[in-house]
Amino acid sequence: MASRTISGAALQELRATLGEDNVSADPGMLQVYSYMNSLFSPLIGLWWVSPVAIALPSTVEEVQKTIEICKKNGLKVKPHSAAWLFTALACQSDVVILDLRRMDGLLEINKDDGYVVIEPYCTSGEQQVEVMKHGLNCHVNGAGPNACILSSATSVQGSGGTSQSMSNSERNCLGVELVTTSGEILHFGSPGTPNAGWFCGDGPGPSLRGMIRGAIGQGGGQGVYTKIGAKCYPWYNEPFDCNGSPPFFSAGVIPNYEIRTAFWPDYDCECDALYRTSESELVDYCARLGPGAYEEAASCSNEEYRSMVESGIYRNTFPKGAWTISIAASCPEELETKLKTLEFIVEDTGGIMIDPMDLGSDAYQVVFQTAIRGCFIFKAAFMPSGAFGCFTPMSYETIDNLWKVNIQVNDEIKKKLIAKESIEDDYYDNCYASLDEHGHFGHIESPYHIDFWEPKEENVSGFIEGAKIGFRKSIPVLYSPMASKMPDLLNYINYMVKIQNLIDPDAAMDAIAKSLFGTIRNIDDLGELATLGEPEVVRG
Ligand SMILES: Cc1cc2nc3c(=O)[nH]c(=O)nc-3n(C[C@H](O)[C@H](O)[C@H](O)COP(=O)(O)OP(=O)(O)OC[C@H]3O[C@@H](n4cnc5c(N)ncnc54)[C@H](O)[C@@H]3O)c2cc1C
Repeated sequence: MASRTISGAALQELRATLGEDNVSADPGMLQVYSYMNSLFSPLIGLWWVSPVAIALPSTVEEVQKTIEICKKNGLKVKPHSAAWLFTALACQSDVVILDLRRMDGLLEINKDDGYVVIEPYCTSGEQQVEVMKHGLNCHVNGAGPNACILSSATSVQGSGGTSQSMSNSERNCLGVELVTTSGEILHFGSPGTPNAGWFCGDGPGPSLRGMIRGAIGQGGGQGVYTKIGAKCYPWYNEPFDCNGSPPFFSAGVIPNYEIRTAFWPDYDCECDALYRTSESELVDYCARLGPGAYEEAASCSNEEYRSMVESGIYRNTFPKGAWTISIAASCPEELETKLKTLEFIVEDTGGIMIDPMDLGSDAYQVVFQTAIRGCFIFKAAFMPSGAFGCFTPMSYETIDNLWKVNIQVNDEIKKKLIAKESIEDDYYDNCYASLDEHGHFGHIESPYHIDFWEPKEENVSGFIEGAKIGFRKSIPVLYSPMASKMPDLLNYINYMVKIQNLIDPDAAMDAIAKSLFGTIRNIDDLGELATLGEPEVVRG
């Protein structure tokens, strides 16, 4: 049977290395690190595998030594930053969690070259506050200012509303420092050359960033990333100032910055408008929330939530969801030109654009503060039931495929499950979406909520159905980098597992991707998924 405790000798060795207070195997503490009310909690449940110990290293050398001690004692290691994703917890037995909160440095702000050097526990909110003092801004992924940039840049994916103007976290990743399980400290990109700085993640030689990450990162399965250079972008204003009390605070006006809410009568018009807005390179922040997300973000109790649902204030105003679009300009003339162009596009595609203040001051603060620093998505995620997931397909795709395939699949699944009272009625089209780099590409997710204590609620069926339809239609599932078509996808998975085996040959990391995919060696292992029919994709 798998052991669920750590030996006294191993614990002693960790404590001697990191300090008495920085290692714990206290049962209460282990429970804290096993509870994850997060993305996909409806699938995995609230209680996850218990680790055997928690270790808090504070330097690269301590990370090296902790890995060495764990290896010697047959324990696996799981790096853990802000832990907004369940893969930051133990995914198998005999795991020591490396909580990296003592490594929270913003080590350098290089204003001239527009980048920062950060440690694992520097959150995107902390980074943004500091860089704005230097006329810079940074992408805050949709998980919000409380999540760390290094983890999304190296180990997961980092999309959000500012992906349009400031790209995704993984694309902002410059130089990288990795402590491998053999104890080596690897530098990728420019930091590999002494005194070159952290300005570049590629070369000399072929880029390793793509290799280590693949499409969506390896979720902590490769070693511990201890530093990165992260790209910043211009911010033309004073630092963002915000006063008042949570959750809404009160953010004032920012010069040369405007925000709008736009919606369209059908998906065709919405697609046309999105292509044109992207191509015009107008916007700073651009993301879609369904009416349900407004109810969840703007209400402060379940009673208030219920009354918003009953009033239909958002469901009647934009039943097909609404885009928050912001423009950050360097001068009044740029602002005016961009705003006029946006107004023209929205009108020409049959849309309606309003000042979000027209939805009330709370709703205004929701969209304004989300646009600047990603504040409210996670609030929406946990109302009204506390547990949420996203239905598949969950694609990165062209705008056409997102609207003409993905969203329709999600709408149908949700309508059916809401009618059966198997999930909470957070409105069938509660899709969240954002677009990348002023291009034709973006991602979509369809959140749903369940209440674990409601006997009729079902947690996995919609997820499985979405995945099956995704495979049948040959569209990317769960952010896979390519159409879900065998054997192409299998080749990708096998390569990612091979790379993981190269970097961590002794399997010292608690690698979720390897445990999930490592057993898939040929198409037959995939059962029904491998035999689904011909694709029916729409290409935009
Ligand atoms: C409500 C909600 C909304 C979300 N929305 C988005 C979204 O819009 N876009 C998005 O991209 N993501 C989103 N996420 C997913 C996730 O929270 C983010 O990707 C987030 O950036 C993860 O950061 P973190 O610091 O919490 O990482 P963690 O959860 O701590 O870690 C994530 C993974 O990276 C590994 N890891 C962490 N640090 C290191 C390290 N130093 N070295 C090696 N491996 C490491 C962990 O083992 C884990 O597998 C959302 C999550 C929630 C709960």
